[in-house]
Amino acid sequence: MTNVQTASAVTLLAGRDKAVREGHPWVFSGAVGRVGGDPAPGDVVRVLDSRGEFVAWGHYSPASRIRVRLLDRREDAVVDEVWWTQRLAAAIGRRREQLTDPRGACRLVFSEADLLPGLVIDRYGDHCVLQVHTPGAERMRAATLAQLGALLSPAAVLDRSDAEQRRLEGLADGAPATVAEAAERAPAVRISDAGLTFDVSLGAGQKTGFYIDQRLNRAAVAPWAAGRRVLDAFCYTGAFSVHAARAGAAGITLLDSSRDALEAAVAHLALNGLASVPTEVRRGNAFAELRRLRDEGRSFDMVILDPPRLAPTRSQAPKAARAYKDANLFAMKLLAPEGILATFSCSGGIEPAFFQEIVRWAAKDAGREVQVVHKLGQPFDHPVRLDLPETEYLKGLICRVL
Ligand code: SAH
Repeated sequence: MTNVQTASAVTLLAGRDKAVREGHPWVFSGAVGRVGGDPAPGDVVRVLDSRGEFVAWGHYSPASRIRVRLLDRREDAVVDEVWWTQRLAAAIGRRREQLTDPRGACRLVFSEADLLPGLVIDRYGDHCVLQVHTPGAERMRAATLAQLGALLSPAAVLDRSDAEQRRLEGLADGAPATVAEAAERAPAVRISDAGLTFDVSLGAGQKTGFYIDQRLNRAAVAPWAAGRRVLDAFCYTGAFSVHAARAGAAGITLLDSSRDALEAAVAHLALNGLASVPTEVRRGNAFAELRRLRDEGRSFDMVILDPPRLAPTRSQAPKAARAYKDANLFAMKLLAPEGILATFSCSGGIEPAFFQEIVRWAAKDAGREVQVVHKLGQPFDHPVRLDLPETEYLKGLICRVL
């Protein structure tokens, strides 16, 4: 067993320790004063406030802007592999009800929100997809895999870590050998979601294969589709469309830039016995296609707008806001009176109130009155940790465009 808890200590600068003392679990590089004991990346260090009082144990990451991620505020805690695997078991235990369906898909571990910084695990039926984004979580990889095996006996665990996030933490990219062989087989796993069936390509798909964070939002959006002509913009593999088609949509227009995603979307409609719903496929840059549809004089009764993450952090928010506004503006222009707009942002850098403001700007420019009929967010397996507002990233508005 690796002993990761060290005698090294990180002392915070005077005037920079308030947020951490009040509960925020990240120590930014600018708040770090003295580093004693020469800790290695991924070591568990003692974090002390500016007066030298113990604050918490945390994972040290010298290359990262987030220099320490706090783990435990009890000074007598023994933060080792046992500690880590107990937290892992607790996180999985929170999803117990989600594990009964052998084909179910859900997030098992959501990093800091589940008190396990740097670790994300998604479950797709009997497969798991792992993301390891910090040196601390990397040191716990073997223990994580062993515990996952003991609890769930997955058929395979694939590494789909984000290379950019790893780079920011000074970690090499690429899946380490322990799980890479499984990725070679790149299985397509058939999952069920609210009684519908989807083939998730774990090795090749986007994110960890399927946007499971939108699960409950699709169920909330679907009833509005009954009898409506639906445009599913940024449709990926068509999950919203399949839900809308089952709910009785009059027609579906799939729009995405990815040919593979569009093919999968068409296949998913057929797989679910919905091939008879009139379906149109448009491939291209959705921002331009929305304008083109407008120029063609098209109109829809419902538009679903689920763009990729345009602003991962707050610094990208102003530029992203313009893109979100444009997309929402053109979506509104395409809507017949009393049409429904289901609009989303998964950008952590754009807060819910700001997103609503962006949609208001779009409404103003479109010259339409807009009602919000339902506000949407993250499902319970992607919890928001109150001490870390950064864990709140997904928001949606179902709007009626008068
Ligand atoms: N609504 C989907 C998830 C959307 S993810 C679901 O429920 O599963 C974002 C999608 O946007 C991806 O499929 C990606 O291929 C697509 N995309 C990204 N940039 C795009 C662009 N400029 N134009 C069209 N599609 C784009």
